[in-house]
Amino acid sequence: MTLSERLNLSAFRDDAEQWLRDAVPERWRMRRSSLSPEEITAVRREWDKQLHRGGYAGLSLPREYGGQGLGLAEEVVFHELAARAHAPEGFGRIGKILTAPTLIVHGTPEQQARFLPGILSGEQVWCQGFSEPDAGSDLASVATTARRDGDGYRVTGQKIWTSFADVADRSLFLAKTNPDAPRYRNLSMLLLDMKQPGVTVRPIKQISGTSHFAEVFFEDVWVADADRLGGEGEGWKVAMTVLQNERGAIEGITRYVEMRWDLDLLLRCCAARIGRTLDAEDFDVRLELVRWQVSKAVELVDDPVAFARASSVLKVTWSELWQEMTQLAIAASCPEHRAHWRHQYLETRASSIYSGSSEIQRNIMAERVLGLPK
Ligand SMILES: Cc1cc2nc3c(=O)[nH]c(=O)nc-3n(C[C@H](O)[C@H](O)[C@H](O)COP(=O)(O)OP(=O)(O)OC[C@H]3O[C@@H](n4cnc5c(N)ncnc54)[C@H](O)[C@@H]3O)c2cc1C
Repeated sequence: MTLSERLNLSAFRDDAEQWLRDAVPERWRMRRSSLSPEEITAVRREWDKQLHRGGYAGLSLPREYGGQGLGLAEEVVFHELAARAHAPEGFGRIGKILTAPTLIVHGTPEQQARFLPGILSGEQVWCQGFSEPDAGSDLASVATTARRDGDGYRVTGQKIWTSFADVADRSLFLAKTNPDAPRYRNLSMLLLDMKQPGVTVRPIKQISGTSHFAEVFFEDVWVADADRLGGEGEGWKVAMTVLQNERGAIEGITRYVEMRWDLDLLLRCCAARIGRTLDAEDFDVRLELVRWQVSKAVELVDDPVAFARASSVLKVTWSELWQEMTQLAIAASCPEHRAHWRHQYLETRASSIYSGSSEIQRNIMAERVLGLPK
């Protein structure tokens, strides 16, 4: 990074810090745990709109598409500052991080004009309809069918683990459009309207008590040809663009901040409970390695293959470190923070599964980083 880029980034950081100080709602920062689920939803919805008004939506999207024309470095800096400022998590993640960049690569000008403004303004919430009961790691096994009906499709089937499904207006949706075509050429990517008859969303309650996702049933649901992203049978190619954006530095930096808080608390709990400190240095070094890996991924952003490799290593590092920390916290059994650690322990079980499980990331590292045979 050149000196002038560094200076620009530090000016961006100062502005963003100031904006976050003013923008994060006081009732969220101070009284979040006392808010009702409806109040939490209202704050999160409003946050997406505030980000847009403040010029912080679509930071790395090109200006001609309504973004701010900056880079991944600014996205990462902003997400780190937002996490440190205890900003709410909006509902716009799938729309902004996954759908918008994919629309820019594969969408028609008409689709871009129709969907990008709503995604960036926070008016339209998106979910990702990929996983099914028998298609997770093996995503190409998607069985939900979109059968031809005039100038569109009728979709029937089931998705599962769909985050934001209960609030989403649209789904970035992978379906089988040609059951007779060979694997990888039988799928299409659809921009499916979630608010139409035939879509049934059933939230799944997780072991931690929260509900981040849902199972979703589709019965003869309509999708017009105009809402297919890419050509018919090109769904796999479009899905690869989506997944490249998913395993990212943005999530890595947000988790880094949350893990830093947990590590500080863990050190205090261990000292109080078992009269000794942990090998703090070891954890500290491993946590800083997460931050270093985020900056490495940012540096590699223009090289998609190297970026994907770096993202896989990053994902395994932070998810497994966090699981290790919460496991230790449970063992330390600090009475004062038992509820927090119980929640964190159960929540972090999912971190090595979503966005590609640890086993799948290790397969990627073995094959594409180390060059080992399949
Ligand atoms: C919190 C959370 C949110 C999610 N949100 C979404 C969402 O919004 N949209 C969406 O579409 N999906 C979502 N998912 C689903 C997620 O993408 C899948 O859970 C994940 O891809 C794994 O698929 P699976 O659960 O079907 O497990 P499976 O693929 O059945 O895997 C079961 C086990 O076998 C291992 N395994 C599978 N294949 C291999 C292999 N080739 N080599 C070695 N080991 C293997 C896996 O690592 C895993 O341990 C979410 C999941 C979670 C936990």
